Amino acid sequence: MEKANAWTTYEGKDLVKLTDLNEDYKEFLSNGKTERECVRQSVALAKKAGYKDLNEMIASKTPLKTGDKVYRVWMEKTIVLFQIGKEPLEAGLNILGAHIDSPRLDLKQNPLYEDTEMALLDTHYYGGVKKYQWVTLPMALHGVVVKKDGTKIELSIGEKEDEPVVGITDLLIHLSGKQMEKKASVVIEGEDLNVLIGSRPLKGEEKDAVKKQMLDLLKEEYNIEEEDFLSAEIEVVPAGKARDFGLDRSMVMSYGQDDRVCAYTSLVAMLNVEAPQRTSCCVLVDKEEIGSVGATGMHSKFFENTVAEILALSGDYNDLVLRRTLANSYMLSSDVSAAFDPNYPAVMEKKNSAYFGKGLVLNKYTGARGKSGSNDANPEFIAKLRKIFDEEGVAFQTAELGRVDIGGGGTIAYIPASYGMNVIDCGVAVLNMHAPWEITSKSDIYEVEKGYEAFLTHCK
Ligand code: MN
Ligand code: MN
Repeated sequence: MEKANAWTTYEGKDLVKLTDLNEDYKEFLSNGKTERECVRQSVALAKKAGYKDLNEMIASKTPLKTGDKVYRVWMEKTIVLFQIGKEPLEAGLNILGAHIDSPRLDLKQNPLYEDTEMALLDTHYYGGVKKYQWVTLPMALHGVVVKKDGTKIELSIGEKEDEPVVGITDLLIHLSGKQMEKKASVVIEGEDLNVLIGSRPLKGEEKDAVKKQMLDLLKEEYNIEEEDFLSAEIEVVPAGKARDFGLDRSMVMSYGQDDRVCAYTSLVAMLNVEAPQRTSCCVLVDKEEIGSVGATGMHSKFFENTVAEILALSGDYNDLVLRRTLANSYMLSSDVSAAFDPNYPAVMEKKNSAYFGKGLVLNKYTGARGKSGSNDANPEFIAKLRKIFDEEGVAFQTAELGRVDIGGGGTIAYIPASYGMNVIDCGVAVLNMHAPWEITSKSDIYEVEKGYEAFLTHCK
């Protein structure tokens, strides 16, 4: 059952492709710190690859035919792409599904306040985080502010060299005696994740002079007034670019690799595939980290509705055909897996762990307390995938998330599975998952992209 480290199998041309893919991936991460930024980049890449906006085709009732490539965006935070295959849609789709939301701190609706001549922004964390990891870091503000008249102001502050950063302070060690005795879960409490953004008072003001100075600045530089925070979506994220990690440059360190590493490789695979037998589909969704809820999460009818639109433009829509199309589909729920960490071997079971350099990770099941909440994939489907990966020379491994009863987790897999389709979790191993800076292996990224392409091309 031992598998070779994929790095030892590469020839010169593999290394060139691996490097190119990872350079582009880092660029995507550095420019994609929010769902909206990821969607915007995905649309640009899709258009370059000849994809057309499905909404325009729906409006003009343009029929879809074999070979057509279309994308559809929902509320700027979710995107789905299709390439119409040679087989009828009813035979099912080959779907890659990943998520583009990542853990972070969101500004509250009424965030701005002054305390002891400092201006701060109050936050509510999003997704599962170890709160103590999010202090004393350079942070950036990304998002949108929507004015009452509907005007949308795009914000990105703290990424360029000459832009200021913001962040959350922590207590100095000299006065931390009591704090150091607290449990890690309460060392930094959620309500204390307040972002320091200014300290200079406005001349001639008696009360809240620092806040007033900040409001002047927001008005002047961004045309934002305090009330506009009521209709804003601003994410506080680690500032800075994705970069090579390790003296041998074998890894990538970045914010947001869960799950943009699988989203980006899914997108690349989708755009690389030409003239597939079965219709290819790639869906990049929002809200996975908080339960796949809302209009832009995997539970939303957006995906199903869009498949219905595809069938309608192909001249073949009725409810039964839609249900058959979904039930006959295959899906890789492209999400990250926990990489074995030699610093913490106690939480892993070595035979069933994911390792850097061993390629794409298949997780038959996730869940907790006896697989509860997991999509337990069928062996028939896994056998198909094993065959494809072996034939196409894709390095892969199988794993589960830690030792039995140590913890657990979930993905979007169980949601599309409810249509009756075969789904399995399949992605990249990550170190420091959900930390501000996560680490992946470049060779795993390369293998996963190859694996996703092989799935879209050969799964039937
Ligand atoms: Mn994930
Ligand atoms: Mn996650």
